[in-house]
Amino acid sequence: MNAVLVVNSGSSSIKYQVIDERSGARLAQGLVERIGESGRGRVVYKGTAGDSATEQDIPDHSAAFAAIVEEFRAAGTPIDELGIVAVGHRVVHGGRDFIAPTLIDDAVAERILELAELAPLHNPGHYAAIVAARAVFPELPHIAVFDTAFHQSMPERAYTYALDRDLAADHGIRRYGFHGISHQVVSRRAASHLGMPLESLKQIVLHLGNGASICAIDGGRSVDTSMGLTPLEGLVMGTRSGNIDAGAIFHLLRRGVSVDEVDEQLNKRAGFLGMTGSNDFRDVRAAAASGDEAANLAIEVYVHRARHYLGAYLAVLGGTDTVVFTAGLGENGPDLRELICAGFEWCGLKLDPSRNAATGSGARVISADDSAITVLVVPTDEEAEIAQQSIALIASS
Ligand code: ADP
Repeated sequence: MNAVLVVNSGSSSIKYQVIDERSGARLAQGLVERIGESGRGRVVYKGTAGDSATEQDIPDHSAAFAAIVEEFRAAGTPIDELGIVAVGHRVVHGGRDFIAPTLIDDAVAERILELAELAPLHNPGHYAAIVAARAVFPELPHIAVFDTAFHQSMPERAYTYALDRDLAADHGIRRYGFHGISHQVVSRRAASHLGMPLESLKQIVLHLGNGASICAIDGGRSVDTSMGLTPLEGLVMGTRSGNIDAGAIFHLLRRGVSVDEVDEQLNKRAGFLGMTGSNDFRDVRAAAASGDEAANLAIEVYVHRARHYLGAYLAVLGGTDTVVFTAGLGENGPDLRELICAGFEWCGLKLDPSRNAATGSGARVISADDSAITVLVVPTDEEAEIAQQSIALIASS
């Protein structure tokens, strides 16, 4: 058994999976929510021996890991008997420092905390979980796998904002990109589904979930992506605006809207939610079908932005071999895929309507046989990728 405990932590939650890295099988998974909300912590466990959900006091991340270990014990499958050989931590921001999965020691953990400057909502929770997990599993290697790392291969022209050089350098303002773990695993799986070497392929991956980003990938390396300094830039998302004229922010500030309110509006109250009242595409789709004009417009805005990037990345890559859809909307939205791909026949992209409409769970081709660009749906699996990268790192060190 080569099992990895994959940890995806936030400031008030920890999600985890125990994955057999060789088969990809989930041996157990669960989550702890509402950490720090006195007496209201929620602990959910799903394992081979059954499921459980309890409420208890979880004051901090250490208590959360203690509760996780206790759930395994209570289910009769103690966590130290599962053959876990590594703990893989998903970390949103690795700044410029981390360009690959990294074995965590004290210095790496401290650096992840320092990078909270760039990811204030994410890195502090990662740090708290890393400290707690290292105390609970001191004998196991802990590996940080970064959402930003895959995009560190972007050329300077793609990651540089046209700002005063000193200002940008002093404040660390540049594009980093996110969803890198997903773009990496999906592009690799697309290549293997086609039986083509990754190194020979140009790919455009659309990760369309609650958060959404597009990535231009040349030979397995990210060369451009739609998210920037933060995950706010780029596509329209569930609750985020994506691209907006920075001048609109000054306008709001000058009209008396506070910095925190603007932040909240653009990150949590915009996107589908702001335009329609729901962040979930299924609601938006149903409203549009019943004639709701705001919902119809929201879909048009979403599709227009996605097509804008698809065209841009065709230019960046000088054409592409594949266009790959993944994540919640990418995997389950044949209507969106059709709208996004419509009118790209000029560059040889042609969907097959029945392949696109068919439901399936694995990687699949949805373009026509005579399409010059192969369009695929490839389910993302960030946890399996974290497990795989963790094992690869310890095998090579
Ligand atoms: P996250 O970014 O939180 O990981 P997901 O990739 O799971 O999100 O995507 C979640 C979104 O995917 C939902 O908000 C919903 O809009 C969309 N989605 C999920 N299932 C479907 C479906 N069957 N049809 C259309 N949209 C779906």
